[in-house]
Amino acid sequence: MNDQSRIDIRKVSKLYGPVRAVNSVDLTIEGGAYCCMIGPSGCGKTTLLRMIAGHETPSSGTILIGGEDVTRARTGSRGTALMFQNYALFPHLNLTENVAFSLKVRGVSTAERRDKAREMLDRVQLLHLAERVPSELSGGQQQRVALARALITNPKVLLLDEPLSALDEFLRLKMRVELKRLQSELGITFIHVTHTQPEAIALADQVVVMDHGVIDQAASPREVYNHPYSPYVARFMGGQNVLTGKVESVERGHTVVRSHDGTMHDLPTVEGAKPGDTVNFSVRRDRVDLSSDAEVMRNSIAGTVVNIEYQGTFVKVALDTGLREEFVAYLDVDKYFAAPREVGMKVRAAWDAKYNHILLGQNNSTGTPHED
Ligand code: ATP
Repeated sequence: MNDQSRIDIRKVSKLYGPVRAVNSVDLTIEGGAYCCMIGPSGCGKTTLLRMIAGHETPSSGTILIGGEDVTRARTGSRGTALMFQNYALFPHLNLTENVAFSLKVRGVSTAERRDKAREMLDRVQLLHLAERVPSELSGGQQQRVALARALITNPKVLLLDEPLSALDEFLRLKMRVELKRLQSELGITFIHVTHTQPEAIALADQVVVMDHGVIDQAASPREVYNHPYSPYVARFMGGQNVLTGKVESVERGHTVVRSHDGTMHDLPTVEGAKPGDTVNFSVRRDRVDLSSDAEVMRNSIAGTVVNIEYQGTFVKVALDTGLREEFVAYLDVDKYFAAPREVGMKVRAAWDAKYNHILLGQNNSTGTPHED
């Protein structure tokens, strides 16, 4: 852990007229962590990133980097570097000059800044192209130059705004590996804004899920994926079915909930729940099995098959259960083809009670639909 690059965000808000772009956010990012901020368009990710970089000033609240209050510190003096979405390279300068530019502004001598720029280009494996101008590079190469240019100031924190969005799928996966490698070599904090769930899950030590200017959950990727805090996080991160029920009975270590179709579900203890209360819970799509509709059982839901998609490593079966959202099961390929289904069939999706996960947060917004 590197305390110099730890970030503490305390009660930070940013208002643009009546728009509360960021609303009283509290967040700690450990020094040397790879943090991914994710959320639908307009949720405040970029605004938060720009406030950490010093390109925006919070309307209220405090930002500390390495324990030092930088809320109103100048952009260049707080130990951060921002890599822009469009790379913002100078078209008429070669790569060495592009990378060295910020040192020139700081008055570093020609020889020193050239050496430093070449060292950075080497780090991103572009030294052999040092004399080219940006238009002679591929998109992936331009992005590496932008990275080298951000890193030349020796930042404690590197901020990346949608760094992979302009690249094609192949390059995106390649650069993802590259970013992770760089971050662990440098040992500094990376904060990476993304729209893409798999990107956040693959890269981050800490995933920060935002919605409407607030953080709904900040935790490890496994925690966010397996134990989403709210219906919103469960839906946004994907791979889950979100259900709602009314508390039927509260027993020791066990809460029984009745869902819309009268089925009983066995949940762990719901703190403070009383009979009649509404409870949201989720079950992962890959924890579900299908049986015939006739077998009424606990921890299940009846539905009609509306779509079947073979996905190579699993089969995705979508059910209409009378709810607004489809209920989806990811089935083992061998098991599925031993008893294939057809669209229009009435089935029952069932799962082990241990897979019922309680969603505590009240945020029921659907955010942006998950890609798949
Ligand atoms: P995207 O993923 O589309 O980039 P985002 O999550 O990064 O979105 P922000 O750019 O932080 O969202 O914007 C948050 C909210 O603040 C939006 O409603 C946006 O319209 C508003 N906003 C951002 N910058 C300004 C500005 N300079 N003036 C007025 N409103 C702004």
